Amino acid sequence: MGLLSLGTPLEWPESRQYNDHVRKNGIEQLLYIFLAANGRKNDPLLWGDEIEYMMCKIDDAGRNAVLAVDDDDVLCALNTEDVGVCQAHNTSFHPEYGRYMIEATPARPYTGFMSNYVEENMGERRAIVDSKLEKRGVELLSLAVFPRMGCPGFTDLSESWDHHNSASRSLYLPDEIINRHARFPTLTANIRTRRGEKVCMNVPMYKDKRTPDHDDTVFVRDWFTIEDKEGPLASKPGHIYMDSMGFGMGCSCLQLTFQAPTVDKARYLYDSLVNFAPIFLAATAASPAFKGWLADQDVRWNVISGAVDDRTPYERSTEPLLPEYNNGNGKSLNEHPMRIPKSRYSAVDLYLGGNSFFDREFNDTDVPVNQEVLERLQSNDIFPMDFDLARHFSHLFIRDPLVVFQERVDQDNKHSTDHFENIQSTNWQTLRFKPPTQEATPENKKCPGWRVEFRPMEIHLTDFENAAYANFIYLVVECLLTFSDDINAYVPMSEVWKNMEIAHRRDAVLDEEFYWKIGFNKEGTRKLSFTEIFHHPESGIFPQFIDRILVHKGFVSSSWTELKNSRQSAHLRLYYYLKLISDRATGALPTTARFLRDFILNHPDYKEDSRLTSVINYDMLKLASRLTHLDDTNGELTRFFGEEIVQFLR
Ligand code: ADP
Ligand code: MG
Ligand code: MG
Ligand code: MG
Ligand code: MG
Ligand code: MG
Repeated sequence: MGLLSLGTPLEWPESRQYNDHVRKNGIEQLLYIFLAANGRKNDPLLWGDEIEYMMCKIDDAGRNAVLAVDDDDVLCALNTEDVGVCQAHNTSFHPEYGRYMIEATPARPYTGFMSNYVEENMGERRAIVDSKLEKRGVELLSLAVFPRMGCPGFTDLSESWDHHNSASRSLYLPDEIINRHARFPTLTANIRTRRGEKVCMNVPMYKDKRTPDHDDTVFVRDWFTIEDKEGPLASKPGHIYMDSMGFGMGCSCLQLTFQAPTVDKARYLYDSLVNFAPIFLAATAASPAFKGWLADQDVRWNVISGAVDDRTPYERSTEPLLPEYNNGNGKSLNEHPMRIPKSRYSAVDLYLGGNSFFDREFNDTDVPVNQEVLERLQSNDIFPMDFDLARHFSHLFIRDPLVVFQERVDQDNKHSTDHFENIQSTNWQTLRFKPPTQEATPENKKCPGWRVEFRPMEIHLTDFENAAYANFIYLVVECLLTFSDDINAYVPMSEVWKNMEIAHRRDAVLDEEFYWKIGFNKEGTRKLSFTEIFHHPESGIFPQFIDRILVHKGFVSSSWTELKNSRQSAHLRLYYYLKLISDRATGALPTTARFLRDFILNHPDYKEDSRLTSVINYDMLKLASRLTHLDDTNGELTRFFGEEIVQFLR
């Protein structure tokens, strides 16, 4: 999340009048960015991570664990009276969708390979917040999903249901869980209003002996004429039903941003990482339960995708749930309604091209574009853009702005990027191509340049794991940028989309095969197991990326496994990062999702009915807290990481 624009957010009926205005001016802003920054060269490989945490209250006497909603003043303090401390420790804290959430990044980006420092900085971030929360009895956990989100009493608020939740109108989430900055409730309400219905996510329920055949928490209420009738129509048998933005945007993830030396290298990097995204979604699976139910999937992605899906029924090529109320079918929203196959939160849609390995045929999926934007970007006298890049932006610009601030309607397109960012930052794809600003001229090295953000990964409980995944992807990125002349990572986009779907399946790491290159210096794909994707000599990530870059850097002579005998602490720690990822890929170690699922299935309170009672939830959060602090009292850490890694961590 960048800095929040301040001002008065407009509600949808007013805001939508500015849709074309925002798009039109956003595109002019983008052209001025390209005019200014296209010539940048030799920008260093700066990078950084983002970690999202949940504040939780764990009550040992009552054996209950809830989200701490009313401690958001801590985030405020971190950005006011504590800025000195934060700067001294190179940490920065940001608001997130949930009022119980905190996002943290390094204040200044890393430069190149920093091994130990990444984890150290993550530790500093945690320590700073912990020191503030300790006195309040609040725990900071980097948990992907709060497992009883939306169940009775899942927060520390006592009076959240004595009034109506008009922003989300959810049957389960009170509006108080939403960040209090006006942008967030407005975003929630505007998505719902534009869609013409509440959002609707049906996640397959894990089927056990006594699992009910449908989600029995669905009910009809009489607060809101339309929305309160939707539940029984929208929910599907055999699925967990969720009905508001918070179920998705209230999840936590790990994101990484990398700066490329030039705009062309940024495009190449983006394209090359496209098929890494589904693989690393599955590899980092950490979400086995939603809304108090065990799910038959391991990741959060499609929940967030549904949670911000603002498409009308017409755009989704479906009928409204309640045609008697939503009779326009959403067609009347604009003059030229179109069918839109995917949510604005979804896998990457288009390769950016701009290099010799790229072939337009790799973009083989149905991706609608804004024709007017496509034409303007290619023919103008500011910066005529090539077709492939123009196509990417003209796809992003099929979307409407979701929140427009009254005070920010009129902007100077040569100096502001707000309108562009409005559309850009509400296209939530597995990767984000981040252009700089109009200030980022080639001479102005103080300004960030062209960046690529890697966004699919689930967050992990420990800093050790999050640092492992961050460093791993860093090495892949360094390898790609170093050997960009001979690594060809393109696979047909349709196969990437299939991989995204496969990545959602329970135990995908163990049981599924994914489309993957047969080699990175030739064309062609085939389906491979996770072990092969990571270790196959011709196409595995370890031999083709990790070993290659480690040899190039002079860390090893041929294989990453040599790091184990290193006397340099940075190299030794790197070995254990790589070992963790290798062992999870081969199934020698469980994913977080598998580990938590097993804990639930084996809990004495579990009744083989897929339900997470509040006692199971409490015990699971206690476990999460012990793992977070590398506490092996019960031998859990050893089962989670294996003997060898635990020995090292000690
Ligand atoms: P967003 O939420 O828009 O993705 P954040 O500011 O939360 O952005 O996070 C961006 C990440 O990028 C942070 O880890 C930050 O340290 C890092 N970063 C900052 N400047 C650069 C840069 N020039 N190149 C690469 N990464 C950068
Ligand atoms: Mg975030
Ligand atoms: Mg952020
Ligand atoms: Mg963000
Ligand atoms: Mg308070
Ligand atoms: Mg981000």
